[in-house]
Formats: sequence, C-alpha cells, structure tokens
Amino acid sequence: MAKIPYRYFLDESKLPTAYYNLRADMKEQHAPMINPATMQPAKEEDLYPVFPVGLCKQEFDNTTRYIEIPEPVRDYYRTYRPSPLIRAYNLEKVLGTPAKIYYKFEGNNTSGSHKLNSAAEMAYLAKSEGLRGVTTETGAGQWGTALAMACAHFGLDLTVYMVKVSAQQKPYRKAVIETFGAQIIPSPSDTTEVGRQILQKHPDTGGSLGCAISEAVEAAVTSPDRKYVLGSVLNSVLLHQSVIGLEAKTAMEQLDEYPDLVIGCAGGGSNLGGLIAGYMQDRLLGKKAPYFIAVEPASCPSLTRGRYAYDFGDTGRITPLLPMYTLGCEFLPSANHAGGLRYHGMSPVISKLYHDGYIDEARAVEQTKVFEAACAFSKAEGILPAPESSHAIRVAMDEALKCKETGEQKTILFGLTGTGFFDMKAYMDYHDGVMTDYIPTDAELQTGFDSLVQVPGYPLD
Ligand SMILES: *Cc1c(COP(=O)(O)O)cnc(C)c1O
Repeated sequence: MAKIPYRYFLDESKLPTAYYNLRADMKEQHAPMINPATMQPAKEEDLYPVFPVGLCKQEFDNTTRYIEIPEPVRDYYRTYRPSPLIRAYNLEKVLGTPAKIYYKFEGNNTSGSHKLNSAAEMAYLAKSEGLRGVTTETGAGQWGTALAMACAHFGLDLTVYMVKVSAQQKPYRKAVIETFGAQIIPSPSDTTEVGRQILQKHPDTGGSLGCAISEAVEAAVTSPDRKYVLGSVLNSVLLHQSVIGLEAKTAMEQLDEYPDLVIGCAGGGSNLGGLIAGYMQDRLLGKKAPYFIAVEPASCPSLTRGRYAYDFGDTGRITPLLPMYTLGCEFLPSANHAGGLRYHGMSPVISKLYHDGYIDEARAVEQTKVFEAACAFSKAEGILPAPESSHAIRVAMDEALKCKETGEQKTILFGLTGTGFFDMKAYMDYHDGVMTDYIPTDAELQTGFDSLVQVPGYPLD
C-alpha cells in the first residue's frame, strides 16, 4: 500500500469558503484597463452596461484579500467539488522518473473542465441582480457547457456564440449545451452588426474567440435585461478559479508535500492563475515558493512571442483595452490548430506576474508533442485529457524526464484542467498522422502587432 493515495479528496469541512484575491498581495498592480472612447482608465461604472455589477466590483477590487463565496455557490460546488488531487504513480513508473508527480483534476463534472468554478459564481451574481439572462462566447465548447449548466441551475437564459469551426467540428458539444437549455449561434453570424462586418471582410473564416466575444457583447448591450459574461482573462475569473489552487495547497499540506514546480496551461490564463494562487501568495510574501511554468501552444504564443501592450479583448474592438501579452486582436490562429488555447491575449494579472518575474517561465509547445504526451498520459493514468490540459502534461513529463537524468526527486504539481471526450477529431488526426505543427512566422506575427494601439501616458515595457 502506498502511503499517499492515488486520489486524495479534501474533507468537505476544509473546502475554501472564500476566494483568494492575488491582487491584494501584489506589490504593484497591472496598468489600468483603458476605455477606448476616452483613452482614460476605465471606471467600474463604465462596465455596468456590459457585465453583471457584482462582477464589475470584483474586477476592480485590488485590496480585499479574501472574498466570500456565496452560500448558494458553495452548495453548488459541493455537487462536484472537492476535485481530486491525484498522485501519478503510474505515469512516474512509465517514465522511470524519481520525481513525484501530482495533478489537480478539474474534469470530474459534466462540462468537463475547471470553467464551471467561475460559471457558477457568475450565474449566481447575474440572477441575484434580477437579470433574465446572459450571453457569452465559446471556443472549444467547455465554457459554453459550463455556463449552460450553471444557468440551468440558477434559472437564467443563455445565448452562446460558438466559434463556427468548433460548432461544425463538435456537434455533440453543441447538443450538450442545448440539453442544458441554452441557445447556440455559430459565430461569426448575421445576427449582430459586428458579425456581419467580419463576414464581409472574411467570408470564409471559421471564426475566433475574439470575434465571438464581439458578437456576444453586442447582443448583451443591445438588450435591456441581459448582460455579458466571459470565461477567462478577467481578474474576476482568476479570482473564482482560486478554488483550484486553495484546495490543492491544503491537500498538499495534508500530505506533507510542497511542490518544487507548478505547471499550468495558459489560454486566457484563468486556470493557471487559479492553480498557482496559493503558492503565488508565498512568493509575493517573500517566502519559499515553487518555480512556476506557464505552457502555451507554439501556434498561439502570446507569452513567449507576444508584445506586452494594450490591446482589445476582441477582434471587433469593442471591449476596453487591456494591458497584456498579446499577439494583436486581429491575430487568427491557424485553422489546423486543434489544441485549444486559441486566444490572442493573456490575463492582465498573469501578464503582470510574468513581466515582473513572479511567474518564472513561459514555454511554448508544438501540438504533435502535446498529443504524444496526451496519449502516454491516457495509457498510464486512465484519464483522457483535454488537448489544452495536455500542454501542461507535456511540460510535466519533460521536467520529470529531466529528473530521471539528474536523479533529482522533484515534486511536480500540474493542472489537469479537463477531459477530451469532445476532442476526438483532434485525437483521430493525431492517430492518422495528419496533425501538423503550425508555427507562425515573425512576419505573420508582425501583422497582429501592427494592429496594436498606443495609449498615451501608459507605457508598459
Ligand atoms: C478553457 C480551457 C483552458 C484554457 O483556459 P484558461 O483560461 O487559460 O484556463 C484550459 N483547459 C481546459 C480544459 C479548458 O476548457
């Protein structure tokens, strides 16, 4: 019998009762969000027409360290949390590594990812404010599913603008979202002004997250009793996802473990921000802390090859300007990129932590290497990982293999953000040997950078 179990679940009495707000411990905040109409810092009230008010308050709160999780949200969390902390004994054996590998598995709910953690809080806040419904976008479909589940639970209407290629490639994902009572519109669509404009400019586009965001925001601001919610990037989303890291840290403490390395995949940065939250607090407070690695796709390399600049959150340029690592809001990742994490920008908090050296490293990985890791992991651990999560698996395996060479017994913690059951087309492409690694050239990235805006008075670099 192993001393540490394969799956470790926290006792319900030890579940977090408050979200942890990293910003309260950061020495320096990220530069302000900018209202593009005035080129001045956006105020909390500027966002009221777009987002539920409760979320706007969380977005601008840089000082409250712990923000209480409302009781109805905690009750809902109890339907699928705690998520297990898993010791990857079998993967360690297959790799022949002396490293100890742990992962926090967020795929144990029907939506299949960590996104439900934030969806629940958002749906609760929107309902409490008397809204009839919310709109959103979804790329790979996990966010749309998570929000559909949360809206069904709290009694809200939901319209999901789904990136067109995803809607075509993932009809089952669409069906699940509809099962939970939400309406799906493939994006770009002719149901919004911005969608019609994008279609005119790029009639054959398969869409992008940035463009679906533009449509969902427009749909919300043009209706009186609906607002828009976003499943990543924003400060409030990182705040909600802190439940991942708080649970993980408590569980590791109970097992007498402290990680040397914490590894997470980074699309918009929310799971990474959540996973590292508790340990990042150690670093911010000047204590011993792990080495943090953010992993992104080589085909959409915002941290490793992007600019730290102000940029819109969407292709249609209707959101506020965010200070972030970005490839430019007009950057469209290659259509053959199957591995998720397709967003052009990165959470302002993650960007700031990375820029200031609190996140030690960002690493870009190629998608065939990611799927190779996903298959090895599946065979060893018996979990079919999401392509996004498999970016973190790749780097965790690489680090464990380094330990094999050096003989170091490092403790590695990575985030297994979700399952890949709706990504079987990508797995099939990989098995059939037709998956390719597309890495954008500097010239292609330059096109995205050319679309960046300068904000006078707020230099970032
Ligand atoms: C959405 C998603 C991600 C990436 O989003 P972040 O905001 O960067 O966390 C990663 N893994 C899975 C399974 C997802 O659904």
